[in-house]
Amino acid sequence: MRRCDELGAISDERGRLTRTFASPAMRRANKLVGAWMREAGLQVREDAAFNLLGRWNSAQPGAKTFLLGSHLDTVRDAGKFDGPLGVLTAIAAVKTLRERGVKLPFNLEIVGFSDEEGVHYQTAYLGSRAFAGTLTAADLARIKEKQIVKTKRNRNEFLGYAEVHIEQGPVLEKNNLPVGVVTAIAGQSRLRMEFHGIAGHAGTVPMNLRHDALAGAAELVLAAENCGVTATVGKLEVESGASNVIPGRVSLTLDVRDQKDARRHAAIKALQTKAQTIAKRRGLKLIWQLVQQTAGVHCDKTLTQIFSKSIAQCGLEVMKLPSGAGHDAAALSAICPVAMLFIRCKGGISHNPAESVKAGDVRVAIEVLADFVQTLAKENS
Ligand SMILES: [Zn+2]
Repeated sequence: MRRCDELGAISDERGRLTRTFASPAMRRANKLVGAWMREAGLQVREDAAFNLLGRWNSAQPGAKTFLLGSHLDTVRDAGKFDGPLGVLTAIAAVKTLRERGVKLPFNLEIVGFSDEEGVHYQTAYLGSRAFAGTLTAADLARIKEKQIVKTKRNRNEFLGYAEVHIEQGPVLEKNNLPVGVVTAIAGQSRLRMEFHGIAGHAGTVPMNLRHDALAGAAELVLAAENCGVTATVGKLEVESGASNVIPGRVSLTLDVRDQKDARRHAAIKALQTKAQTIAKRRGLKLIWQLVQQTAGVHCDKTLTQIFSKSIAQCGLEVMKLPSGAGHDAAALSAICPVAMLFIRCKGGISHNPAESVKAGDVRVAIEVLADFVQTLAKENS
């Protein structure tokens, strides 16, 4: 918890926590967490995508690698647990295992991914997708740091990936449980669109002769709210943005999620048709662009079972729940089996400085994660 506080003070902005891909604060955060990794006996390095890696090498020759981790970047004005908690609990679990004198039949590598939230380039999982080797040409065209493709790791190296994360929702709290096992991660699409109208004088252009880009965009925002799946317009940019000018151009973002990929795709198709209809009726030009898409991911049955056993071992009821938020585990699922453990958070609040977890719950998560790795070691030796 003290480390969460210390890390939460490293920010690109004064007075609030914002730490984005490749920023000065991100570099400082990697330095600090790297020191904690070293203290836990790990070999530390940073890869070409600024992911922080801490490795415990197995004594067995030719051993494969099991991954633990989460992300060290944040949203704007973030809480201090979303991401860092997964890296710091992994470091604490390693310390516990070392104190117990556990020998591992596989290498254990903790990763602090450099970009999960996608604040810098509006494209999520840059760090973990660089690691998994699944960046697309479109991703690379958007970003300055072309060297990040060199990060790609050999998928044959890995046994699996496990991530501890705050729930970011109210379900565990409602059920009075400190931790829960994740069954699946919802698929998501991020889109960007523009309505182009005609800017004009707010006093002289009659209402029936206007091509108001913002009024068109507003119709689409309301349509998104009622599209039947989880959809959010989080950013709206209005040009020229003056009180006495009819908006000539508006750009907006759209985030769509659902456990079922087919239902998500259908909702997006319906929204696109709606946007075309709005644009036609109002005499606007529409630009519709899919920025990024991630399919829904099922967590690995075997790894999830081990998590369940470890929770039961701690004398707790095992609760299984899906994740509406995306996680690095979704990106890692392209190269190995994945599993996730959620920690209860206060009021389900996240992406907010009010984000809060209990020290006791974090202790349980560390114990469960240590037991998980130990059981995995037994089953693989
Ligand atoms: Zn996160």
